[in-house]
Formats: sequence, C-alpha cells, structure tokens
Amino acid sequence: MTIRYVIIGSSIAGVAAAEAIRQVDHAGEITLISDDPHGYYSRPGLAYLLTGEISQAQLFPLREAEWRALGLRRVMGEVARLEPDAHQVILADDRGLPYDRLLLATGSTAARLKAPGSDLPQVVMLDSLADARRILDLARRARAAVVVGGGITALEIVEGLRVHCRRVHYLLRGDRYWSNVLDEAESRLVLARLAAEGVQIHPRAEVAEITAQRGRVAGVTTTAGERIPCDLVAVAIGVLPRADLARAAGLRVERGVLVDEFLRASAADIYAAGDAAQVYDPRTGKALLDTLWNIARGQGAVAGHNMAGGSQRYAKPMPLNVTRLAGVTTTIIGRVGHGPDADVIGIARGDSETWRLLDDALVVEDATEVNRLRLLVGQKTLVGAVVMGDQRPSRPLQRLIGEGTDITPIRARLLAPHAPLAAILAETLDL
Ligand SMILES: Cc1cc2nc3c(=O)[nH]c(=O)nc-3n(C[C@H](O)[C@H](O)[C@H](O)COP(=O)(O)OP(=O)(O)OC[C@H]3O[C@@H](n4cnc5c(N)ncnc54)[C@H](O)[C@@H]3O)c2cc1C
Repeated sequence: MTIRYVIIGSSIAGVAAAEAIRQVDHAGEITLISDDPHGYYSRPGLAYLLTGEISQAQLFPLREAEWRALGLRRVMGEVARLEPDAHQVILADDRGLPYDRLLLATGSTAARLKAPGSDLPQVVMLDSLADARRILDLARRARAAVVVGGGITALEIVEGLRVHCRRVHYLLRGDRYWSNVLDEAESRLVLARLAAEGVQIHPRAEVAEITAQRGRVAGVTTTAGERIPCDLVAVAIGVLPRADLARAAGLRVERGVLVDEFLRASAADIYAAGDAAQVYDPRTGKALLDTLWNIARGQGAVAGHNMAGGSQRYAKPMPLNVTRLAGVTTTIIGRVGHGPDADVIGIARGDSETWRLLDDALVVEDATEVNRLRLLVGQKTLVGAVVMGDQRPSRPLQRLIGEGTDITPIRARLLAPHAPLAAILAETLDL
C-alpha cells in the first residue's frame, strides 16, 4: 500500500522530514504544503540579506534537480484546518488532502506589539523573505528607524538598518541587552559596539504609541514621554509557535504542539517538529521550545524517519548557536543564563529555552578587549559556555559540553582566580 505523507511547512523541519522519509520509503506519496510563496530558504540568512552581504539567490539551499530527486508534490497554499478523525487537512480554498501520516512543521511567527499605531504599514517584523525585502525597501527611503525588542533578531535588524538608514534608534525595556543569556559584561560589549557604530541606544524605554502623519509612521512616543521621530519601526519582541491548527483540532498544545520523544503529537499519525513543536526532553524532564535551524533539521529528520515506520527517540543535542552580535562572532552553548528578558515575550529567534536552565554552576571568565570566554563549570562537567570574538575554543567546547566530558583533571585550574581559561583549554584540548 502506498503511504500518503502530508507535511505542512516547507522549511528546514519539513524538508528534513521529506528527505528522511525518502531514504526508507521510495514509493510513498509525499505532499509538502507551504503558504510562503518563496518556499524553502535559509531564514538565518535573512540577516545577511539585510546587510547586503549575500544575495537573495544564496538563500536557497536546494536546486531544482535536488527537488526532483526527492520526488514530492509541492502545494502552495494555506492549511485552514486539520481533521484528525477523518485523516485529512483542509486548505483555505476548501480542498481536502487525505493523509496516512501528517507532520506539523509550521514554524513560528513574530509576536506583535500591542501599542497604538502598531498596525501602521511601516511597522515591520522579520519572519520571512518577503518581510526582509519589505524592510529593505522601506529602509532605503527612511531617514530614521526605531528597533524594539531583544535577542538575536532585534540586533540583526539594527545592523541591517544601520547600513541603509542615517539614524537608527534601539529601544530596550531593560537596562541591558539579552539579559537572560549574556552576562553584564557581554551585554555591555554589544551595546558599546553598537553605540560606536552610531546606533542610538535607549535603555529603559518602552513604546507607548507609534504616531502617524497622513497614514505613515512619524515617530515613537515612549512611556517616559520621549518622542523619537522616525519613518520605520521594526519589532522583534519574540516569536510564537504556529500551533493554532493543532489547538483548533483538539491536539495537546501548551506554548507549542506537545510531542513525545518520538515527536508524536497527541492524535494518531500526527507528528510535529521544528519551531512549532514543544518537545519532551528526558534530560530535564521538561517540554521545551527551541528556535534553532539545526535543532529543527534534527527534529524533522527523526519525525520523518518515524512517520515512515521507524521508532527513533529524539535525543536533543546541546543547543548551540554561532551568530554575530554587533560584529562580534559569538557562540552560545548549553546552559548559560536564567530568568526572563524584559525585551522578549517567551522566546526569540535563534534561541533555546535550554540556555536559560542554569542553576548552580560556577562562572569563570577570561577577557581581553573583544575576546571573551565565559565557562559555566558544574561539579564534573562544563554545563555551558559563551565564546565571543576568538572562536578557537568554540568547536572543542561544543564537543566537551555536548558529550558531557568529565573535566575533573582541569576543574581546579579553571576555577583558580584569574585563570587563563583559553590557554588551559588549548593545552588540554590540544588546540
Ligand atoms: C531573521 C531570522 C534569524 C534567525 N537566526 C537564526 C540563527 O542565527 N540561528 C539559528 O539556529 N536559527 C535562527 N533562526 C531560526 C530558524 O530559522 C528557525 O528555527 C527555523 O527556520 C525553524 O524551521 P521550521 O521548519 O520549524 O519553521 P519555519 O522555518 O518557520 O517554516 C515554517 C513553514 O511552515 C509554513 N506554514 C506555517 N503554517 C502554515 C499553514 N497553515 N499552511 C501552510 N503553510 C504553513 C510556512 O510558510 C513555512 O514554510 C532565525 C530565523 C529568522 C526568521
């Protein structure tokens, strides 16, 4: 019997699932549905499109021949609802698509600002390629822009706008940037570099209203009464998993679609993976969200394998991101911070809830001007690290933390006052 696989979402989780299905089921009918006219492209790459460092063509990972080799049907359209009992999905144009196995790989969507004026056309968010093109279009004509929010995306937008607009204001509700992942010195380093590049930082500033003139954005008024004239407002205050289809169909949903270790949702033959999924993690006993490209790829692959009859448990790797913060290459690995961040509702993009599960580790740091290394030292293992600038320790640390290597032989040296951490690691890890 030919199995009918339907995948909602043609981004990294959906495509990884399709690839995994094809590895074991050469005859199955795979349908990949997307409501994004641009299909499958690198969302992390959008930041580099904004700064002009890459072209739009470089965002697309698969060539037409590679799509053909996958042998799937691509449907452009929005899924309006799921009918789990009837085993079918209904598109917005009322077409029904029956399935034997269904994957929800619907990703996440930017949270909206609630202040008056937030619906004006020059208030933008960065979810998709269409959004990035719109931001570029508006930025080229804007004299001043205001960016609101936290995490990686807010900073990426700040840096993209800085290339195109004369004046960029960055509003932070709190005192410092990304307070539940970076420590105070790391936040300060990022903000100082932005300020040196001419970005105007406004700490403890919250948007009270976005004002308009003749239907166009004219400025932002803060709750402290400050008025900042601008023609563009970019909002990056966090993302929400796209779990509405699952919720409406009666599946178990918390923040995202709840799935077990096999990435099965609560209805028969339905799986979820990627940003939309809230995945049970046996290591912490919690169901967690991640908004990371590689995690979505790994989950998609496991879900696809299981949809095609496998029974693989999803073992979450130590979440990590290698990104650029105000021009400084930064790797974040494992548990490095805790608590909420005033600038983000829930989770931002390129983020992991695991990073904020730090409890009783000891912190050691080694820093020069822009090279900073922070290690979170547990009883026997390193539980997390932030590497800013010089990236030589990044890969070995990914291994050390990911594999939970026993660091007893070097622990005392790492914890000694003013320990040269990078040198100790280099010596130990043979860098
Ligand atoms: C600007 C930006 C910067 C980022 N930076 C980083 C980074 O530095 N590092 C990192 O690891 N990650 C980063 N990310 C996050 C990363 O891109 C996501 O974790 C990843 O794309 C999630 O993949 P996904 O397949 O789960 O969902 P998505 O990529 O969000 O795709 C979801 C898909 O589902 C489709 N869809 C949703 N609902 C429906 C529906 N009802 N009907 C039809 N189709 C539907 C959408 O059209 C889309 O194709 C960034 C993301 C953005 C936007």
